[in-house]
Amino acid sequence: MDIARTPATPDGNPEMADAPHRPAEPPLIRREDYKPFPWRVPEVSLDFRLGLSKTRIRSTLLVERNPDAEGSTVLRLNGDELSPVEVVVDGQAINSWAMDGDDLCVTLPGERHEVEIVTEIDPAANSKLMGLYASNGMLCTQCEAEGFRRITFFPDRPDVLSTYKVRMEGPKDQFPVLLSNGNEVATGEAGDGAHWAEWHDPWPKPSYLFALVAGDLVANRDSFTTMSGRKVDLGIWVRDGDLERTGHAMESLKHSMKWDEDTFGREYDLDTFNIVAVSDFNMGAMENKGLNIFNTKYILADTETATDGDYDGIEAVIGHEYFHNWSGDRVTCRDWFQLSLKEGFTVLRDQLFSADMGSEPVKRIEDVRVLRSVQFPEDSGPLAHPIRPDSYQEISNFYTATVYNKGAEVIRMMRTMAGPERFRKGTDLYFASHDGEAATCEDFVQAIEQGAGLDLEQFRLWYSQAGTPKVSVMLEHSGDTATLNLSQAVPPTPGQPDKKPMPIPLRLALFDRETGQHHGEQLVTLSKAQQSFSFTGFASPPVLSINRDFSAPVSIEREAANEDLVFLAAHDDDPFARYEAMQDLVVRHMCGLLSGSLDDQARDAGREAIGTAFAAVLADGQLDDLMRGELLILPGETYLAEQMLVADPAAIRAEREGLKAWLGTTLEGEFAALHARASKAPSTRDAAGKGARKVKAQALAYLAAGVPERAAEMAAAQYDAADNMTDRQGALMVLASLQTPERTHKLLDFYHRFQGNALVIDKWFAIQASSLHPSVLEQVKALAEHPDFTLKNPNRVRSLYMPFTGTAQGFHAASGEGYRLIADLILALDPLNPQTAARFVPPLGRWRRIEAGRAMLMRGELERIAAAPKLSRDTYEQVTRSLG
Ligand SMILES: [Zn+2]
Repeated sequence: MDIARTPATPDGNPEMADAPHRPAEPPLIRREDYKPFPWRVPEVSLDFRLGLSKTRIRSTLLVERNPDAEGSTVLRLNGDELSPVEVVVDGQAINSWAMDGDDLCVTLPGERHEVEIVTEIDPAANSKLMGLYASNGMLCTQCEAEGFRRITFFPDRPDVLSTYKVRMEGPKDQFPVLLSNGNEVATGEAGDGAHWAEWHDPWPKPSYLFALVAGDLVANRDSFTTMSGRKVDLGIWVRDGDLERTGHAMESLKHSMKWDEDTFGREYDLDTFNIVAVSDFNMGAMENKGLNIFNTKYILADTETATDGDYDGIEAVIGHEYFHNWSGDRVTCRDWFQLSLKEGFTVLRDQLFSADMGSEPVKRIEDVRVLRSVQFPEDSGPLAHPIRPDSYQEISNFYTATVYNKGAEVIRMMRTMAGPERFRKGTDLYFASHDGEAATCEDFVQAIEQGAGLDLEQFRLWYSQAGTPKVSVMLEHSGDTATLNLSQAVPPTPGQPDKKPMPIPLRLALFDRETGQHHGEQLVTLSKAQQSFSFTGFASPPVLSINRDFSAPVSIEREAANEDLVFLAAHDDDPFARYEAMQDLVVRHMCGLLSGSLDDQARDAGREAIGTAFAAVLADGQLDDLMRGELLILPGETYLAEQMLVADPAAIRAEREGLKAWLGTTLEGEFAALHARASKAPSTRDAAGKGARKVKAQALAYLAAGVPERAAEMAAAQYDAADNMTDRQGALMVLASLQTPERTHKLLDFYHRFQGNALVIDKWFAIQASSLHPSVLEQVKALAEHPDFTLKNPNRVRSLYMPFTGTAQGFHAASGEGYRLIADLILALDPLNPQTAARFVPPLGRWRRIEAGRAMLMRGELERIAAAPKLSRDTYEQVTRSLG
């Protein structure tokens, strides 16, 4: 099927028909059209003459016919904004090459040739930050997915694997440090103040894993001894001055290396492992073999400038990129449709790692919250796609929560069904059978099937069907038998009107109301449209706890009395289920309020139930504060919007804030006491310290909604007393949402205190852009004119505009001004950095699920973008699919 439907034709859209210089429709690439490349490229040697505004590259490829592919005498090499300076075949310069679009085509008569190509590029002018580019005087690369073709002509596809030899030469004062993949094999002086270095990577890899860094950097150096006793040199490279903020990243790296040996039996395979931090970066980080390149956001931390969330993020991303060394680098993807093979699996690995390093239940809840607030809306909107997509125009658009987070959930379900030990047998078989290969999702499923001994025939539907399954749950009781009636439906998504039932593993427990106990957890698998399961030995109706630990990425629709949810919120021994009962209680109440189906009496009863559950959580001495903090978080506005067919963002905001205010007032004493108690905790980085900081922030948020003057005073005091960023930022976020003079004072203080620290100034932008303040729209407009704001730095752009897309009173302002602001941003950013620009389209693309007045305004902005005379492939695809 065809999920990225052919975009609207000109007749369907008169504005587009009139657009004067619209480039040809970008071609649709389909998974079913995959063909192996006719040539192999076993060896690549690259020679770089480095300069910020001119870098010359001589690339030498050993090419030979691929016996597994259809023959062709033409070697087609991908390029992007390149033209060849020189083409040499077997030592002879040739003129018989031809350009076909962006690609270079060379006719080769024989079985095996040496092809040399010279290109010249201007890294300083590369604002797309793909390929080789300049960032603050240094040179660095980002090649996934298709950046290598911006450096040299190459078969830039993940199934062409080569060993790389890289030689770099450049001025020593400008680029004292020269790094690439693999191991450094030689260095030397080149005269005229230049020097050179040579790096060899013995492991065959696709071009997307190539990396090069040249700049004035210093390293935090350490070492790690692997399970077989090999010593690996570790280096984390940053700008001078940032060195003291790399300690946590280094610890995280060593923990990752050890964990992957212990948990998955994976050992590191080179003498060196380097990480470089770069401040201009489109992504979070990149797993280039032996030379990871990171956004500074995921390297630099100290308690004064980084929050607990930042610390956790660093550990997770360091783990994620390191784990790719096996799930991604040693076994790579055959084509980009298989992206979830490496990403879904590696996200699961980093989630398990973070759970082992910190609190397992809290990590699980955080992961589910991300899935529900980002992936569920994607799965129910115009951009819905299976975790293994069937087609795309621009692959950058498929680095999505579906491929990553739902992909991880799908593999987690296999692990749940097999159990961790059998699952490990499956992953061992996968790594052993496909080491050194470009594999497919199907290869992975087969390995788990054989290694873990599971039948995954029907389970494969999780790879091909989009949409979040809805599971309806009904529990009946008669005699001593409880009968669970389950049914499932997978909603239609673009290109997939009809779905088949999928196997859905559900962990469940049945609680005795009197004792508060259950007789053991069970795992049932719902594999038909409707199925019933019976449980005997229940003299009275039990309380059902289902989808414990979020065993399946589905939405559960169940009839349960408020009192049952209050019971589970207080008693469930599965922490996720306990959290879920709290969420359900609130979601139902909010949905009732928003649909107008609750009379005053029902509203009061609903509130009372929530208040009772909150009071129990606040009073529960058995709970640690990290978990208490989770239980106190209300369902987010996007998740609430997902529960409705058509949502009114302003109404959701008003009701959610109304409930917060009611809780803040009703439980004022409890929240204030919690804040006071937590304020006395020592500010350590362990679970107790983190928990204390988390509940402090929660308490302030509720008090700010209920008793704003008191909260403003407390927040200002917390801000002044803070010896760490978590407390300071938490206090400032509360103040930024309030209309109080302290707001201005503290925002100004924060700015001056951290001026010059880009990552903290990003927070300063984000705090203001995400605030509940009524004039957030005007504030964001003003911040866009701030001297520290620039469209050229992706972190800065995201920090101002991404949080803004979550503001009901700003982005969703009834006037449409917020939508216009984001559309203007997309149009301004698209020529500079299309990848980042396209990421702002999905918030506008949700128009179908928003009330009619706003929906029309959102659609209008999408149409305005679509009518722009020149759009990148990235933005074009997202906009046309959103309108489609
Ligand atoms: Zn990844």
